[in-house]
Order: sequence, then C-alpha cells, then structure tokens
Amino acid sequence: MVERQSADVVIVGGGGAALRAALAARDAGASVLILTKGELGKAGVTALACSDRMAFHATLEHTEPGGPDAWRYHAEDIYRIGGRVSDADLARVLAQGAAEAFHYLDHLGVPFAKDEAGRADQFVTDGSKYARACYTGPHTANHIHDALRNEVRRRGLPLLENVMAVDVALDASGRAAGVRLADGRLVRAGAVILATGGAGLAYEVNVFPEGMTGDGHAMAFRAGADLVNLEFIQIGLSSVKTKLACSGSLMRAWPRLVTGEDREFLADYFPAGTPPEDIYAVLFRKGASWPVSYEEPSHVIDVAVFSEMQKGRTVWMDFSRNPAGLDLSRIDPALWAKYPNVARLRLTESPLADSPLERLKAINLPSVAWLAERGIDLAAGDRIELAPACQHFQGGIKIDTRAATTVPGLFACGEAAGGQHGANRPGGNALMDSQVMGRIAGEQAAALARTAPPGEPAGAAVEPAPRGQAVDVREVRRRIQHLMTMYASIKRTAQGVKAGLAELRGLRARPWDTADAGDAFLAETQSIALVAEMVLTACGARPESRGPHLWFNAPDAITPLPRKDPEWQKCNVLRPDDDGAITIETRRPVEPDWELAQKIDA
Ligand SMILES: Cc1cc2nc3c(=O)[nH]c(=O)nc-3n(C[C@H](O)[C@H](O)[C@H](O)COP(=O)(O)OP(=O)(O)OC[C@H]3O[C@@H](n4cnc5c(N)ncnc54)[C@H](O)[C@@H]3O)c2cc1C
Repeated sequence: MVERQSADVVIVGGGGAALRAALAARDAGASVLILTKGELGKAGVTALACSDRMAFHATLEHTEPGGPDAWRYHAEDIYRIGGRVSDADLARVLAQGAAEAFHYLDHLGVPFAKDEAGRADQFVTDGSKYARACYTGPHTANHIHDALRNEVRRRGLPLLENVMAVDVALDASGRAAGVRLADGRLVRAGAVILATGGAGLAYEVNVFPEGMTGDGHAMAFRAGADLVNLEFIQIGLSSVKTKLACSGSLMRAWPRLVTGEDREFLADYFPAGTPPEDIYAVLFRKGASWPVSYEEPSHVIDVAVFSEMQKGRTVWMDFSRNPAGLDLSRIDPALWAKYPNVARLRLTESPLADSPLERLKAINLPSVAWLAERGIDLAAGDRIELAPACQHFQGGIKIDTRAATTVPGLFACGEAAGGQHGANRPGGNALMDSQVMGRIAGEQAAALARTAPPGEPAGAAVEPAPRGQAVDVREVRRRIQHLMTMYASIKRTAQGVKAGLAELRGLRARPWDTADAGDAFLAETQSIALVAEMVLTACGARPESRGPHLWFNAPDAITPLPRKDPEWQKCNVLRPDDDGAITIETRRPVEPDWELAQKIDA
C-alpha cells in the first residue's frame, strides 16, 4: 500500500471509470492517487458483475450504417430511447468517444469477440437499429476491469485500498481541494474525481456487490453539487435467492406466476375477458425486455408481481405445470419467429406443450443446471421467488461535456455521474460511458489541477447530533431499503413518496446506534439515507410515466398514468439549499446540437 496524502488528481473509486480516469490524468502529466473502498478487483460492479452476455456499445469503423457520421445514429439512440430527458451534447460526446474507448481497451488486451478479419463482432440491443454491442461474453465488465487494473499496476499508479472517502473538502472559495476519509484523514488534491458507481444498496433486492451505497452521490450533494435524473433507475424482476435477472428464456418458457398460496394472478391485471393467449403473449414478450419501462407494454407483468407484493404476498415462478388456460396452438408463431432457440421447437406437441420445465430445458438447459447449483432444483419442484431488483442508476451527479460537476474542481464519471443517460439506458452504454467520461474526467481534472491549485481546505462541518431514542443502524438500513422497494421501485405514487419521505425523515431525526456494525457501515447507511431521500424527491417531482418511472394515481391502481410529451421532456435537478435541504429545479435538458441523421420520434 502506498502512503501518500496528496496528489494533483485524487480519484475516488476503483472501478472501470476510476481506473480509466487515473490513467488519463497520469497521461496528461498529473500526479494521481486512487482511493478505493475495497480491494482492487474485489469491489464494485465493473470488477464483479456479470450476466448472460455483457455489452460494450461502440460505433466502430465497420459499424452500420457506416461512414463518418455513423456516431449520430448512436447519439440519437441514447437520446431518443432515453426519452429526451438527458443532455444531447453528452450523448454526442459518448457516441463520438466510444470507438477510441474500444480501441484503448482492445489494445490493453480485453478479449473482445472478433470475426476472421479481426473486426469486433457486434449485436443489436434494446431498441437500437444498428448492431453496436461488443462483448467478450458474460464477463465483459470483469475483463475490462482486469485489463485496466493490470495497466494501473504496470505503471505503478499510487493507490490506497480499503479506505472509504466520506466528504469532499472545499477551500474558502468553494472549490474542491481534497477528500476526507472515514478514519479522519484528509487527502489534499488539486482536483477530485468521484467514480464511486451506483447506489444499488438503497434497495432491498439489488444485483450490486456489497459496498455500493451511493457515497459519491452523498459527497457531491453535501459539497453543493447538482444531481439529475435520479428517478430513473433500472429495475427488473429477479430471483431473490440468486439475484438472477428473470427474463429471456425463463419468461419464454411460460411458467406459472403464483403467490405463496399457489394462486395464479396474471389475469387480474388484464381487462376482464382477455383471452389467455393474449396474456401469455405478453409474458413471452417480457423475456425480451428485462428492465421495467413504460414504453414497453410488458411492464404489466412487473406491475402485477409488484401489486401482489404490495398486498403482503410473496411471488414465485413455478415451472412444474402449465399456467391456467395456456394453449400454445392458439398463440401466433410469429411471436417467437425471431428467436431461433424457440422457433425450432415443436411447442404444440407433448412434452413441450405440457410443461414449462421441459420448454425451459429445450430453450436454455444451462439455466436449469445453474439454478440447481444454487439450491433451486426446478426438476424437484422448487420455485423461484421473484422481486424487483435494482441494477443501474441512469442519473447521478450532474456533469457537463468536460465531466465537470457544478462544484469547481470536482469531476464525476461512470455510474456515479448523471445527465448522459435518459429514462431508459440501452444496454452497453454504461460500460462505454465509464470509459469515455472516465478518460475525459482524468484529462480535464489534470489540466485544471496543474494550472490553478485550490486554496487551503476548510475544516469539516459538524452537524448537531440528533436526540431521542437510538435505533440500531442495521435496522435503519433495512427499513430504508424496504421503503425504497415499496415506494420507489415498480409503482410510484404521490402517497407512496409522501409516506416514504416521512418514514425516512423520522429515521434520520433519531440517533443511530452503531453497536458493533462499525463506523464505515454507519457512514454508508448515511449515504443510503441521503440517496433515498433524493430518489424519492425526484420521483415525486415527475407526475407522468417515462422509462422505469411508472407513476400511478393511487397505490392500488394498476394502470400507470401516461407519458406526457413534450411537456415532460424535462429533467429534475436536485441541489442543497443553504441549510442542506434538498431543492429541486425542473428544466429542459440540452437539445441535440448536431444535424439529425434520422427522425427522432417521441
Ligand atoms: C448485473 C449487471 C449487469 C450489467 N450489464 C451491463 C452491460 O452488459 N453493459 C453495460 O454497459 N453496463 C452493464 N451494467 C452496468 C455497468 O456494469 C456499470 O454501470 C459500470 O460497471 C459502473 O462502473 P463504475 O466504474 O462507474 O462503478 P463500479 O465499477 O461499481 O466502481 C465503483 C468503485 O467505487 C468504490 N467506492 C464506492 N464508494 C467509495 C468510497 N466512499 N470511497 C472509496 N471508494 C468507493 C467501489 O469500491 C468501487 O471500486 C451492468 C450492471 C450489473 C450490476
């Protein structure tokens, strides 16, 4: 471990964005110091997350439609599919920077899949017209992290592991001048980059690694920075026990969705008299769109599952027998024509016609083995408990095209940053974003730190201690995670936001007993509490549905209110007032500054 207490550029985080930023800052001639909460390679999403086939989006030299302007189609997808609530100048920067980011990683040895001519293989994802998703397989993010980590080590960049940053230290003019650590140390800096990732642990069920508690979001807010688009969080139905995203083949096998009392409930969420084949066609479609989204009609499945949970029930996928009324001969085969692994099957003949498990085995046998290894033996009649799980924060600390936040000297990149992505974030753009904005943050922070150093960091603000009966901090965290799941996941309502904020503020007003949980756990829980308050506030400020934000006029309503275009093509920007309370400004994002290559529809 390198003991060094100052640098031109201090980078908080050890994920893909942080490491790319550190390398770029060093290339720009700055001294750097990376501070990371865990051990490098054993913490954060880039190092640890994996899924079916992780994507890295890039418009490369051979990417369709080709030509020097191909980036425009990519930028337009980010902006259009995002629902026109992100900053279009950031979409342009991402799209234009993606090829360089890909080639940098390729050069570092990331084993991207390639054709015989050595060109990256690319596939289509989430509403994009052109194939841009590069990949190595289920571990694309981990391969990216390995390559960056090796490079950081090879070049001997200074690194402090197992340290937790808790605050940005400001000088008298309000410029970032360093970072305070949980152990009380101050690390001085010419510029600070926050690359602390998303805040998945704000939710009860999430697919984030431990430690992802939104510390950077909280640090930025306390320093006075703007945060944006916090109501847009990627959430989808997942296995509670294994965290597996339950889409794709699991839905396409047409399981029964049942409550703990073995009651099928899907039909309750469709208009009375809807034929079963119409309901099961929607269930099949859910397989192609894991994150809940207003623009994707299969969100009715997420709403149905969540509404049952609201009633205090557990919800399960059961593969032991067919759902009521399923007759595959009544469903139009055009539904599955573009899925070769389904289209090749004799779905209307026994045994596939009669058993979800047989269908799942025929479509995706490894998934059955994968679940069995983790204690869910579908062949023995085990079921998969479902709940909405949080996977990605689309919004975050507001940045501009230089990755600068609204606090001078403070930069942000990766999932901690916001404004680049809209309501929906097409798969593959987050890993790419971490590399493009990581590089820019490093370059810009280095340039600032080396030309104009900040003043002396002011002392840490001391907040008055709350009074009253103490509550165990572990109980605080559990209650916040639960209220976020109930009020800020699949169904959002004015009543829910109000109840959530009231409970949250009640918890924050009481002293928290750390007992043996430790100071770091306490500081992380403070981050979660602040992020939760910001997310709930942002949800309450958007009285329409868009992307993952489904807004209902009552907790027991089952049809979300409509998207309002162009009225709500706006973003919610949060910042603290002089007393540290959350204020909100609703404004139009930056419009496209390039000539449109294709018609952007609403
Ligand atoms: C299951 C899953 C699948 C995904 N699939 C895709 C995909 O296919 N394509 C895609 O583009 N995106 C995907 N994503 C999203 C993408 O992987 C992430 O957005 C991206 O890796 C985030 O990188 P990051 O560097 O910003 O954050 P991370 O990699 O999460 O790194 C954050 C770092 O900050 C450190 N840290 C946090 N707080 C502190 C603190 N207080 N002090 C010091 N250090 C701190 C952490 O320890 C960690 O090292 C997926 C995400 C998940 C969870």
